[in-house]
Amino acid sequence: MEWDDYGQLKPTGPATHRRSEAFARLCPFSPEATNEDAIAAARFPDAPQHDARLGRYTSCHVGAVAEAPFRERGSSGGMVSWVAAELMRRGEIDGVLHVHPGTPGQPFFGYRISRNEDELLAGARSRYHPVHLAEVLDQVRATPGRYAVVGIPCFIKAVHLARAQDPVLAERITHMLGLFCGHMKSARFVQSFAWQLGVDHDRVRAVEYRLKDANRPANWYTAHLTLDDGSTVQNEWFHLADGDWGAGYFQNSACNFCDDVVAETADVSFGDAWVEPYSSDGRGTNVVVVRAPLIQRLIDEGRAEGRLDLQPVDADFVADTQAAGFRQRREGLAYRLTWAKRGIRPVKRVAPQAKGIGWRRKLVYRTRAAISRDSHRMAWLAARTGRPQLYLGWARRTYAVYEGLTYDRGRFAPLFSRIERVAGRRKDG
Ligand SMILES: Cc1cc2nc3c(=O)[nH]c(=O)nc-3n(C[C@H](O)[C@H](O)[C@H](O)COP(=O)(O)OP(=O)(O)OC[C@H]3O[C@@H](n4cnc5c(N)ncnc54)[C@H](O)[C@@H]3O)c2cc1C
Repeated sequence: MEWDDYGQLKPTGPATHRRSEAFARLCPFSPEATNEDAIAAARFPDAPQHDARLGRYTSCHVGAVAEAPFRERGSSGGMVSWVAAELMRRGEIDGVLHVHPGTPGQPFFGYRISRNEDELLAGARSRYHPVHLAEVLDQVRATPGRYAVVGIPCFIKAVHLARAQDPVLAERITHMLGLFCGHMKSARFVQSFAWQLGVDHDRVRAVEYRLKDANRPANWYTAHLTLDDGSTVQNEWFHLADGDWGAGYFQNSACNFCDDVVAETADVSFGDAWVEPYSSDGRGTNVVVVRAPLIQRLIDEGRAEGRLDLQPVDADFVADTQAAGFRQRREGLAYRLTWAKRGIRPVKRVAPQAKGIGWRRKLVYRTRAAISRDSHRMAWLAARTGRPQLYLGWARRTYAVYEGLTYDRGRFAPLFSRIERVAGRRKDG
């Protein structure tokens, strides 16, 4: 995988390989790849429940880890690190493939293999930054043992597809821990933080996307940068031109064609409980979807021993915590699939459909797609010319349009409301 000009990772290597059948079956977005339903059916044949949004599952929970220090150290309720640690403590695995801060001179983040609890906790927290699995998969091939992998839905699917082609990976990667996913950002998002926090990007040594503060609502994300002299700068995402997650700044274009919000092929998946009262609880709260019997046992025992503070919930509860993600990956995806006219035609579990979607929602999906596409170009141009305002001015203007469409506020809101009234009168008339 290599970096492109937009701060995204792209597959490289001989064209003959990239056009081969094996590669087409390996890429999680390829029309030739086995889909999530088939992978989950093969991996969890006995999972008793099925939901069109969550896939197969045995149980769902909301809550957090009670045993210190997982919740304080985690982005959310600390459940990912706890389950990974518990698999290690019980001798089920020898290592965990997950994402750590990079070493100086390296990208800010990268996959590493943790082999004890200290290393595992050093890699806790969410990194909305491009990473790849190539090196850690080579390490797994070279070093016998059993491993768990932590990843967003397309990465977990990619590991399943790699296991199908590589018996060594199939034998050694035994557990899959999935993260719910809204979308992946490019590395330029960090550059944008630096511009807006008034520091030189080259001086940034460490990035925290979600600084944890138990006294502030969990959904008030704070970006935090550490500079080369040890000083720090921070600001809330709310105050940033591109800090509204839903607007899609710096989104990877592949995410436009994703239909898996909750890592349906993972043995267990973890997200944030984005509904009240949990969103306001700065300590962080997980939603958890369990699919594999061993993980169900760990969680049942953890609850019985008071090490986990989890309550059972139903599929609707979990889906409601990700309402915006499901709109974008169901209705929005159906609509986007009607646009794809040239090139590779994505094959998705959602059928192309534009009918029944109101003009305003369509405009939201169009604006979001334009924002994600053009943010890469505008930030590239701003960096290239040394004029951050080119990007920041553009981001503020596009956000004003998006805000008017989605939230009925800001300077374009009256315009959209008027169009809506006129369109409504026409329809009535
Ligand atoms: C790109 C991205 C988008 C996300 N979108 C959503 C969303 O829309 N809705 C939602 O509810 N949750 C989303 N999440 C998941 C959420 O941010 C938390 O990771 C999750 O709730 C687990 O919290 P925790 O406290 O249990 O994890 P922790 O105990 O903090 O552990 C997190 C684990 O994830 C690993 N990790 C961090 N970043 C990555 C990465 N990029 N790739 C692979 N592994 C990683 C860490 O190394 C660590 O092992 C997203 C995560 C990512 C990385």
